Amino acid sequence: MRLRYHQPIPNFYNQENPHHPNNLISNDFLQEFADIVIASRFVGLSFSKLSEDFKKEWDIDWDNIIILKYLMSEDILKMEPSDEKCKLMDEEFQEFGAKTFALADILRENGFKADLINPLDDRVSLRAIAMQSNDAVITRSNMCMFKEGLNLGFFMIQTSIENLPFKTENELKWVEDYCSTCGVCIDRCPEKAFDENGKFLRKLCTAHREGCSRCINFCPFYKRGYEKVKKRYGRMKK
Ligand code: SF4
Ligand code: SF4
Repeated sequence: MRLRYHQPIPNFYNQENPHHPNNLISNDFLQEFADIVIASRFVGLSFSKLSEDFKKEWDIDWDNIIILKYLMSEDILKMEPSDEKCKLMDEEFQEFGAKTFALADILRENGFKADLINPLDDRVSLRAIAMQSNDAVITRSNMCMFKEGLNLGFFMIQTSIENLPFKTENELKWVEDYCSTCGVCIDRCPEKAFDENGKFLRKLCTAHREGCSRCINFCPFYKRGYEKVKKRYGRMKK
């Protein structure tokens, strides 16, 4: 989640990009890298392969993206919106940003080009890149949700690695239908940041300015988890 109160992350690289980067990663090294990612307290990886049309639309020349996902702290999310809450969310963001530089360094040391995508660069939408992974969905409350949770923050590395396990089909599409039957976020929103048809109104949402996370806290995906909601949806559809 990109929030206005996040501060720019200093450059923490200790390693230069290789002059002649490798394009192929072995399964063993990819698994080793994924293990290091999890040991660094991220909860998972996703991968986006950017199409020519997408790159043209956003005026970028990146091909392969590694998405590193972390869970935003439940203790912070349950706080009321405040400067203190925004500060704590930013500290968490900075911590995982620094870890992402270290992970990019590991890829560089092993011969791959790896650059952190600046999450505060308004010229490109990280959420649009996330949706290219076929591993995420936008909920009615306008959160970019992966299976690991609704309360996810993420960083991205663009890399020379061409053979990442890119998904071609999105298994989370059903969430849009589930949201159309739910609407808890609409009922719970203190700012009435949804129109009469339940469409999210970004300008009225205070998440980005004041750290509101009320709709996350009440959402079934946050309270019960992705798999349980999916089972309930399956029962609803019988
Ligand atoms: S509260 Fe309900 S409608 Fe809102 S995002 Fe969560 S599941 Fe979707
Ligand atoms: S104002 Fe709060 S509850 Fe309403 S949509 Fe934004 S984050 Fe969710």
